[in-house]
Amino acid sequence: MIDFQQVDKHYGHFHVLKNINLHVEEGEVVVVVGPSGSGKSTMLRCINRLETITRGQLTVNGAAINDKKTDINKVRRDIGMVFQHFNLYPHKKVIENITLAPVKVLGVPKAEAEQTAMYYLEKVGIADKAKAYPNQLSGGQQQRVAIARGLAMKPKIMLFDEPTSALDPEMVGEVLDVMRTLAKEGMTMVVVTHEMGFAREVADRVIFMDQGQIVEEAAPEQFFASPREERTRTFLSRVL
Ligand code: ADP
Ligand code: MG
Repeated sequence: MIDFQQVDKHYGHFHVLKNINLHVEEGEVVVVVGPSGSGKSTMLRCINRLETITRGQLTVNGAAINDKKTDINKVRRDIGMVFQHFNLYPHKKVIENITLAPVKVLGVPKAEAEQTAMYYLEKVGIADKAKAYPNQLSGGQQQRVAIARGLAMKPKIMLFDEPTSALDPEMVGEVLDVMRTLAKEGMTMVVVTHEMGFAREVADRVIFMDQGQIVEEAAPEQFFASPREERTRTFLSRVL
């Protein structure tokens, strides 16, 4: 589903991603951890070409992301992205936030888009907030709306960039629960997070990044019990 081969990325002279090799199969949940500034967001953003790579090959759902002939909008329709800040439209009701892209981008009839929106709001547990405005919702509820909005596009891949980092602690669980359910249902997911419990429990693989490199990649049991690399051990000793 996602395949990085010897990918580099520079911001001007700054070498932010160094020889990234990463392969994500359909239905896999890959959790990316690492210190701030290590390139996690940049790597995620390369997947839907919010950032362009400067060397190597990146293939997503069969399409070469850095090939000029690739229709990037078509690729992006298969990729949902959830950010730390939910980026909901404040002047639109919850349900309108969710139906907007399916109607505008996919040309789904409004009534059908509303049905789909209600289905996903139900799924994330806040169907009763459909007619509310984002600022009437808690942070956890807003993030669940953002996830429902992503899902309403029926993506093949969901990317999460620190989806719980901006939340009050008591709201982290409800968002992770939604993500856990998605993972169980077989969604292909790449999740950048500092929630080590989530990584341990839900990830098929954990990736540790430091200074633009993938330093270590392992199944969660091995990653947490017996990390191979010194840098990983240092990181884990700080966060666990
Ligand atoms: P992480 O998500 O792991 O915290 P980022 O991918 O956001 O790391 O950033 C990696 C490095 O790239 C940081 O040093 C950051 O300052 C730098 N960086 C991020 N975005 C840009 C940009 N648009 N231009 C220049 N440098 C950037
Ligand atoms: Mg980041």
